[in-house]
Amino acid sequence: MRDKIIRFFRLCSYFSSLEPRYFPCVILFNMMKSVRPFVNLYLSKCIIDLIFMNMSLTEIMKYVWSMILINLLMMVAEGYFQSRSQYHDFNLIRNHDMMKAKKLMNLNYELVEDDSLQDSIVELQYLEMTGIYNFPSFGKSIGNFFGGLVGVLISLFFSIEFFKADFTFRGLNNGVMNFIFLVIFILLNTLSFKVISKSNKEAGNFTRNTGNGIFRYIRSYMNIIYNYRTGKDIRLYDMNLAENAGEVYTENMCHIYSTFWRKLGKGTTISEILSSILSVIIFMFVGMKALYGVISVGQIMLYIGAINNIFKNASEIVKSLSIIIPSDLYREKLFRFMDLNESEGRGEISVEKGLGSKCEIEFKSVSFKYPGTDKYVLKNINLKFKPGQRLAIVGMNGSGKTTLIKLLLGLYDPTEGEITLNGKNIRNYKQDEYLDIFSVVFQDFKLLSLALGENVAASREYDHDEVRCSLQKVGLSKFLERNDLNTYLYREFDENGVEISGGEAQKIAMARAIYKKGRFIVLDEPTAALDPISEFEIYSKFNNIIGDNTAVYISHRLSSCRFCDNICVLNEGVLVQYGSHGELMADSDGKYYELWSSQAKHYKEK
Ligand code: ADP
Repeated sequence: MRDKIIRFFRLCSYFSSLEPRYFPCVILFNMMKSVRPFVNLYLSKCIIDLIFMNMSLTEIMKYVWSMILINLLMMVAEGYFQSRSQYHDFNLIRNHDMMKAKKLMNLNYELVEDDSLQDSIVELQYLEMTGIYNFPSFGKSIGNFFGGLVGVLISLFFSIEFFKADFTFRGLNNGVMNFIFLVIFILLNTLSFKVISKSNKEAGNFTRNTGNGIFRYIRSYMNIIYNYRTGKDIRLYDMNLAENAGEVYTENMCHIYSTFWRKLGKGTTISEILSSILSVIIFMFVGMKALYGVISVGQIMLYIGAINNIFKNASEIVKSLSIIIPSDLYREKLFRFMDLNESEGRGEISVEKGLGSKCEIEFKSVSFKYPGTDKYVLKNINLKFKPGQRLAIVGMNGSGKTTLIKLLLGLYDPTEGEITLNGKNIRNYKQDEYLDIFSVVFQDFKLLSLALGENVAASREYDHDEVRCSLQKVGLSKFLERNDLNTYLYREFDENGVEISGGEAQKIAMARAIYKKGRFIVLDEPTAALDPISEFEIYSKFNNIIGDNTAVYISHRLSSCRFCDNICVLNEGVLVQYGSHGELMADSDGKYYELWSSQAKHYKEK
């Protein structure tokens, strides 16, 4: 319970920090909405009483004009606060999305690779998109709660006079009659509360259990169908998949929404019926007192309205609570995500100052296993990356090459041993500055559906000449003649975007690495899809472009890296050999010789 209360206030303060004016506008709008009916009820009562008292038309018209004027003013104010609420509501959601994105960017890298994080993000999105647990409905419920509270207070204020009006009905005095009425009133209200909160809870459970699974299924299904890049495969392998997409979507979404709203609707219908029964009872009771002559004709309207409004506003409070309370499910998931560990601030040493002209990185007895696993992926690695050196890391798939690069970049920490930059543990350097020294092209590099220039510079603002120069260096001069830097890649954002070939994509990714001007360049098999000869050509050409920077080339194909000064051979996480191509080939019992011999026949066949 305590945790739930803390989470509730935490979400309120989170809302206020994201969009400070949101709550004031929503609350003021709802309060005004609640107050206006009473202004009308009270002034109508005055007008009717004046008519019955045969007052002059001028006197009566004063009240009529006041009623029109106050209504007008309040409607304008309500409209203003409503539109402001909608505006702040929009900002709130946008700011919240940005907060989530920022959080994701700052998470520990190991969490980003963890499936359970992906699951919790999908769950959050689902809760935000569906039913009563989304952001706006929480804010609106808070507004409705305050509106309801003000309504109940004003209703009670007017109703008190009614209960005081003294009469006796068939021997039962006013106190007893009031008591009977209040018992029925409270009973019906409580029943209504229970019904609504039960149906909300059922809808919530459905959302949590069934809906979540269906939603994830639909999302991945739609991703496959609508992503035009998978179009070829879908057509080739299973046309039915695309044809059935609409059916699957409609079937599942209909199931989600119909079940959800059926569960919610049941409660709302029953509470509407109870409210009608209660209205009849109120009519009868007020009418009775009027017949006994203890209240005036004008007061009949005022009291019926006021007592009805107690119920209406109380059920507004109940409804809002029945959204606010179970939506703790959402708050819990949101804050669990928000509280995930962000990358701890690394050390404070500035890389620029600590580095001087040289940049020597060393692995000292480094062993590593992925968090939550028992198997060592790297075992006791001792390796030096000397300034200006060209180093190749070769080995079969799964031998640990990419993992070694992740450790080099500081995305993971070694389980044992340490990695140093110029003698100091890399964790002691400022993380962003440390990452800045690298230009990496990964095997699964990603280009975005943005303009060519933005892709190369990884930024909206960039030096056009530098970008052009980088593209020319990787051999894309002809491509540049056909397309300028503002040409969009792919067609997601721009229908005139260009579809690029796999080879062009690799070159653009390499141009990005060149543009970044990292002092330490890593090519982690971005050319794996090419044949060995083309990979060798690209690697050696790239080698000429990068000048005297340090470079690491990764490949499972030994031939691609034979130009390197030094080659280290990884086998099942162990660094088994180190040396130049010539030295390693001289050892006919070594792993390098074995791999080379087994791979060489493929090159000859080519
Ligand atoms: P290579 O780059 O040489 O193909 P990797 O470094 O990608 O090899 O993988 C080495 C081993 O680590 C493989 O057995 C792989 O399954 C495992 N591995 C890679 N990434 C993860 C991860 N995020 N979690 C757990 N195991 C992983």
